[in-house]
Order: sequence, then C-alpha cells, then structure tokens
Amino acid sequence: AKEKGKNTYQFFDETMEVEIRQKLNMENALRKALENEQFVLQYQPKVDVLTGRITGTEALIRWQHPALGFVPPSEFIPLAEETGLIIPIGKWVLSTACAQCKAWQVDEKLEMSVAVNLSMLQLRQENFIEMVEQVLMETGLDPQYLEIEITESSAMNNIELCIQRLIALKKLGVGISIDDFGTGYSSLAYLKQLPIDTLKIDRSFINDITNSEDDAAIVQAIIAMARILKLKVIAEGVETQEQLTLLEQYKCNAVQGYYLSRPLAAWDVVKRHRERMVT
Ligand code: C2E
Ligand code: CA
Ligand code: CA
Ligand code: CA
Repeated sequence: AKEKGKNTYQFFDETMEVEIRQKLNMENALRKALENEQFVLQYQPKVDVLTGRITGTEALIRWQHPALGFVPPSEFIPLAEETGLIIPIGKWVLSTACAQCKAWQVDEKLEMSVAVNLSMLQLRQENFIEMVEQVLMETGLDPQYLEIEITESSAMNNIELCIQRLIALKKLGVGISIDDFGTGYSSLAYLKQLPIDTLKIDRSFINDITNSEDDAAIVQAIIAMARILKLKVIAEGVETQEQLTLLEQYKCNAVQGYYLSRPLAAWDVVKRHRERMVT
C-alpha cells in the first residue's frame, strides 16, 4: 500500500510537471509568434439578408506554428490574456485588419467594413482610445468602416468601464457590436446605456432554431427588442438554408456562418465579393 501511494504521488507530480512545462513552452512560443510573423488573419463575410451582398467581414486570428501546426484561437487567446500578450497581439490584429480594409477600398474598390474582436484587457488599457486613433491614422481607414466586437458577458462584467470606453470609441466614429448576445445576462438598463450599433445573436440559439421552439422564440424576441432599441441584428453560425430562411422571415438584418462562407484569406474575400451571392 505504501509503495502504491508513492507511485500515485509520483504519477501526479510528473503529470503536473509535464503540464507546467508544456504551458511554459506554449508561452515562450506565443512570445515569439509576433516577431516571427506566425499570426495571420482570416476574414469571415457578413451578408446582408435582403441583398445577399457582403457588407463587411470579421477578422479572426490564426496561429501557424512551424512545429505545433495550426493552433486555434480558443487555445491561445486565454493564454495571451493571462500573460498580457493579448495587448501587442490585439494591436497587431487591429492594425492588420484596418490596413486590409483600406487596401480593399483602394486597390479593389470594395466598400466593406471590418470587425475586430476585442479583449476586455485591451479595453482596460489607459491608452486604449489613443491606440485605436493612432492605428486609424496610420492605416488611413475612415473610422466608419471599423467595427469593434465585444462579448456580452465581458461587457456586463465590466459595465462602468465599458460605458466610458465605448462612448469614447463611438465618438471616434467606430461601430460597436455586442458579440455572443443572449448568453451574457444583459440588463436592459445597461444595454440602453451602451452606445451599441449591432447585436450579434450567439451561435447556440441559431444552431437549434429549426428544431427548438424555445430558441426560435428567443431569436424572434432578440430581433424585436433590437428593433425597439434601433439596433441592427446579425445572426452568427448560420449553417443551413433552413436556418437562413427562418432568419429572413424573422427580419434579421444580416447573417454570418459556414452556409454563407467560412472565414477566408484576404484575396478570397475579393473573389467571393465579386461572385453573386445567392440567398
Ligand atoms: P467569435 O468572435 O464568436 O467568432 C466566431 C467563431 O465561430 C469563429 O471561430 C468562427 O470561425 C466560428 N464560426 C463562424 N461561422 C460558423 C458556423 O457556421 N459554425 C460554427 N460551428 N462555427 C462558426 P474561431 O475563428 O475559432 O474563433 C473563436 C473565438 O476566438 C472567437 O469567437 C473570438 O472570441 C476569439 N477570437 C478570434 N480572433 C480573435 C482576435 O483577433 N482577438 C480576440 N481577442 N479574440 C479572437
Ligand atoms: Ca466575434
Ligand atoms: Ca460570436
Ligand atoms: Ca463565440
């Protein structure tokens, strides 16, 4: 029994050591990723339901590590937030997305907005507004083409700071979307105080919209509420024609999801934009 206990102890010890070492390796790799240019952005089209046209895209970060391979954002964004690396990474995302959006306008004559996901840690930075202003100035992008996505739960957990920062952001002329809407227990009183343009209905509600009467009712309620508050609504995670048809009936303004398009490389967005979108 004594021996077994010892082995068990060693087993845990080694597992923990391996885990800690893996995490440190990952952290070191993440530190080097920016300077080694291992990050890329993909852009997922946002499609207007009435016209079927691409009106904008959402920038989504990807990490191509030479040894680890493709690391999805769900696996490194939390670590980037823990280590503070999200600050330089987030600035790179913003700057790259704005430059790309400007290039689409100048080189391709495509008028599309670009949306960037924001971590609460970035918003908390003292110089956050100045940083955004600087990126807009350096890239020459008209602020009306930039949209910031912030998740409902992070907004509600930091409401006072969010109200203050988002109002300042709005004054620059930047658009603001509430991401993953429906999952974050919004208080309507707070929602009214935030200078929001768009609600993005969370994928989990769209998933079951054709089978679950509850989810269909929730989606209709969100759309009705958005109309009263004079907000636009976009549904994320649209994967089938049946879901799209329902969202059309409910008068959802815009849709995003694999059925319309997967996230694309920048040059594929241009191709896709020129093809006629059928909805
Ligand atoms: P999100 O902002 O909710 O982004 C939507 C996610 O759903 C993306 O995953 C997208 O590829 C995926 N998606 C789009 N359409 C569909 C669909 O029809 N079906 C399904 N099943 N999935 C769909 P991705 O790119 O892996 O990003 C995951 C999350 O990582 C994002 O969720 C966002 O929270 C975060 N993220 C991505 N890029 C950035 C970034 O640049 N900065 C920050 N702070 N977070 C980012
Ligand atoms: Ca998003
Ligand atoms: Ca989302
Ligand atoms: Ca999400």
